[in-house]
Amino acid sequence: MKKIVVLGAGESGVGTAILAKKQGYKVFVSDKGKIPKKYKKVLLHNNLPFEEEKHSEDQILQADVVMKSPGIPETVPLIVKIKAAGIPVISEIEFADAFTKATVVGITGSNGKTTTTLLLSHILNKEKLNVGTAGNVGDSFALQVANENHELFVLELSSFQLDGIVEFAPHIAIITNISPDHLDRYAYKYQNYVNAKFRITKNQTATDYLIYDADDNAIKQWLQKNQTKAKLLPFTLGSKKENSKEGAYVKDNKIIIELNQNTFTMGIANLALIGKHNVKNTMAATMAATLLKVRKDTIRESLSDFEGVEHRLENVLKINGVQYINDSKATNINATYYALGSMKSPTVWIVGGVDKGNDYEELLPYVNEKVKAIICLGEDNAKIKETFSNVIDLIVETKGADEAVKVAYKIAEKGDAVLLSPACASFDLFENYEDRGRQFKNAVRKL
Ligand code: ADP
Repeated sequence: MKKIVVLGAGESGVGTAILAKKQGYKVFVSDKGKIPKKYKKVLLHNNLPFEEEKHSEDQILQADVVMKSPGIPETVPLIVKIKAAGIPVISEIEFADAFTKATVVGITGSNGKTTTTLLLSHILNKEKLNVGTAGNVGDSFALQVANENHELFVLELSSFQLDGIVEFAPHIAIITNISPDHLDRYAYKYQNYVNAKFRITKNQTATDYLIYDADDNAIKQWLQKNQTKAKLLPFTLGSKKENSKEGAYVKDNKIIIELNQNTFTMGIANLALIGKHNVKNTMAATMAATLLKVRKDTIRESLSDFEGVEHRLENVLKINGVQYINDSKATNINATYYALGSMKSPTVWIVGGVDKGNDYEELLPYVNEKVKAIICLGEDNAKIKETFSNVIDLIVETKGADEAVKVAYKIAEKGDAVLLSPACASFDLFENYEDRGRQFKNAVRKL
């Protein structure tokens, strides 16, 4: 009997454990922290042996294969030891993919993964295809492979999931964009992080596709220096690229998709999602849907009635003519750049939190043009104040969602917008970005 050790009892770990048991593996789950109740219940219910708040090295080193949860860095001593012992360390995606014949669409990038994943999944569901969606929401890929019989999967893939692949190859890969993030896990070398994202294409063959942002510098540079066997399908906010016969571009405020000897056109004004970044996400999802032979009418309808995703430029309420917008998921500069770029009215901007090495200067043009006041929502706001005090007269520091929203309410006038787009992680004042977004929304509802 083959032995698998699952490190980390979260969504992907517990899903892998269930799938592995079903496939005849001897399973042992080990978590150095406390296992959340919800997952402990599942482990007990499925008779899966586990330990928590420790790693029993002797037992772990007897594994034939180790599945590592994405949250565990490659560099921790235990992983180094396992690798030195010659035991393969893989991710959930690598493990589960071997047990399904489904066609897989894999979506990675620094921003836009969840939005693109859910938009594509919305289109495929409307076409009534038998599709499973996994990544940031719902059941893990492994659990769905164990319990359901999907013909198609749309998977949101982080760089950490991709670090742990060996043979995994999606039929359609999407790289939404690349900008610095998670550098602490990549020895502070941006190129390492870029390379991790491109692992999505490493096992693709000439019958597979790579959909990518042709306006993105990191992506362009990688493609100039490296090879992929997959067919390249670029999307751009600019005009048609001369050297590409197939791909997506923008003309006269319409998206144009030329693919499989067919053209799909749709006015940007008719898209449910707003902002330039979402035009890109839409082009990527539409190309994938077209490759999967979804009818144009279904695509058109789906693009116009998609309801968007919580905490991503989510309209909360309009109060006294002021629109409150929750973009709590903007945890880096690039996401906030697009949020500010999509604002059509004078904006009271709520920003701050735990900064992962932000260069706020990139936001200066939009801040100059659109922001009337800044409300800092973080423990340490020195960098924000320093960068923007020359261009913004009113900068207020707050220490909680209620306070920030109350201050915003006082400042904003009819026709303005109040935007929470922090460009930072949330761990100083909140549990996570969802908690931050929810507290913001509750505070707005209480106004
Ligand atoms: P991810 O899953 O990659 O974190 P999300 O779809 O959850 O991406 O969006 C994260 C943040 O990035 C949100 O603030 C969203 O408005 C913004 N965003 C979404 N798509 C893009 C894109 N293509 N480029 C830049 N920012 C984006």
